[in-house]
Amino acid sequence: MTLRQRIGQGIDFHRLDTGRELWLGGIKIPSPKGCVAHSDGDVLIHAICDALLGAAGLRDIGFYFPDTSDEFMGIDSKILLSRTVGLISDKGYRIVNIDSTLCLEDPKISPFISEMCKTMAQVAGITIDAIAVKATTTEKMGFTGRGEGVVAMAVCLISDKMPENI
Ligand code: MG
Repeated sequence: MTLRQRIGQGIDFHRLDTGRELWLGGIKIPSPKGCVAHSDGDVLIHAICDALLGAAGLRDIGFYFPDTSDEFMGIDSKILLSRTVGLISDKGYRIVNIDSTLCLEDPKISPFISEMCKTMAQVAGITIDAIAVKATTTEKMGFTGRGEGVVAMAVCLISDKMPENI
């Protein structure tokens, strides 16, 4: 039996504004600015969800969790990640690994990466070494460089569940 393996990619953007909470990778990051969004604005989880959905041949995050729905107003994006994992699981897939990158000027993300990976791994039901988060500035160039917004990109590999039993 051939093991199905599929890749996916996701990207998300959010505007930053003062006086909002900054949620990234499932945790709250101390910052004077946070993402403007219908949900908690966790741009990193949103990119990861899109990567997972794309890998499974499903639609995008906005299709399953529309930003016009009151149900998702201010929602914790960890719930969206959990439901996304459920959607791909329903199609018979499990996560092999996720890799991701955040682009933002401030604050520095490095001290929070371990906690992000631990948190998202727990929600997604994977081991901590199956998820990676990297961060970069854009050297003060463009909207991210001016602190106007944040970008997240993610790729993932998924495969059939429990390949050891095939
Ligand atoms: Mg988003």
